Amino acid sequence: MKNKTSEPIETERPRVPSVKGKKRKRKLTDIETMQRKVIDEAKSPSKKKLIFPRLGYSRRMALKDIRPYEPGRPISEVQRRYGLDHVVKLASNENPLGPSPLAMEAVKRELNQLHRYPDAGGFELRRKLGDHHDVNMSNVILGNGSTEIVEILCEAFLDPGDEAITSEQAFFKYVISVRWMGGVPVLAPMKNWTFDLDAIYERITDKTKLIFIANPNNPTGTCVSDKEIARFIEKLPDHVITVLDEAYCEFLEENERPDTLRYVREERNVVVLRTFSKAYGIAGLRIGYGIAPEHLLEEMNIVREAFNTSHLAQAAAYDALDDKEFLKRTREHNRESKRMVLEKLDKLGIEYTPTSTNFVLIHLDRPAIDIFKSLLVRGVIVRPMRGYGLPNSLRITFGLIEENEFLFKHLEAVLAI
Ligand code: PMP
Repeated sequence: MKNKTSEPIETERPRVPSVKGKKRKRKLTDIETMQRKVIDEAKSPSKKKLIFPRLGYSRRMALKDIRPYEPGRPISEVQRRYGLDHVVKLASNENPLGPSPLAMEAVKRELNQLHRYPDAGGFELRRKLGDHHDVNMSNVILGNGSTEIVEILCEAFLDPGDEAITSEQAFFKYVISVRWMGGVPVLAPMKNWTFDLDAIYERITDKTKLIFIANPNNPTGTCVSDKEIARFIEKLPDHVITVLDEAYCEFLEENERPDTLRYVREERNVVVLRTFSKAYGIAGLRIGYGIAPEHLLEEMNIVREAFNTSHLAQAAAYDALDDKEFLKRTREHNRESKRMVLEKLDKLGIEYTPTSTNFVLIHLDRPAIDIFKSLLVRGVIVRPMRGYGLPNSLRITFGLIEENEFLFKHLEAVLAI
């Protein structure tokens, strides 16, 4: 398996069962071979490779296996490149209904404050989030999207060589951020496309500092239950910090939503991540937040850039939090759009992973990159999953009804070729 794009590089140590004290050799899987290579290189770095002789500086060892995160293609880029007027983007799990109307009003209202630096402490928004979640405002940290908080966590807690565990098909921003810091990402296999907390637990070592669990997960759309999380958190050693990334939690039914903030209230080493990018529809403003015990936030605030969230983003998020009507509409629409997309997939006989989110992971019987490209030239942007080691899979965000119809019109045509 080649690692051509910004892919998660599996670095979990292969487990070789021992017989009578001796290690029994077995053939390594592709993933394990790649993991070996990464670990070997990390142990004895080849200095030669890292120096750019002509430019006179050497590269950071930690960066040499990382390619930048590859986001969904912007609509304007696809229009420009393929000369298209109509392009539908179902690639970044955005809210197809647009931004929260209250957030838009807030942005308009606050435009005359653009000459000022934002409140570096995000006082008003943090206080409101504290009230909203029944925690203290001192338990809240704001981020330029919740992805920035993933970076902050790695900067605050990882020394080179420290390990961070997540799953093989977890949101791979985790792997990138761990590697930036010279940390070692350890990838546990998933079970039925879902985080396998036992497999993660088995991989904890003295060097483990962070565990990342996306719940629900991107790109699989699956989630672990309140009970499973409780059982996992209960047995964790004290030196491990667990990050529960709940970017899509608003799409879960009320009774499915794990109560994870209780761990913060109990001052466990747990950080809960949330975002305004998905259900609240303000991905473009870049604002998310973390909720954690104060002792963790003290460390994280050392590395947080003071003005990391803009005034407009803070104001929009503050008002969006009151937009119950929009949130309700978003959930209702997502249910309807999901039903439509899954029905069409069933009709076409396309396999997919059951999802609790606003997107679905589909599994084709051929390389998905070809389908992705054919859809792109027809003006449909979806997300190929090669980077997750899933060359036959695509991730599709549930869109407006007419956007879904446009997708299926072209998907059917492309699959028939
Ligand atoms: N976590 C997960 C699991 C995600 O899928 C995403 C968005 N792709 C994020 C976090 C980050 O969202 P944002 O930075 O926009 O808050």
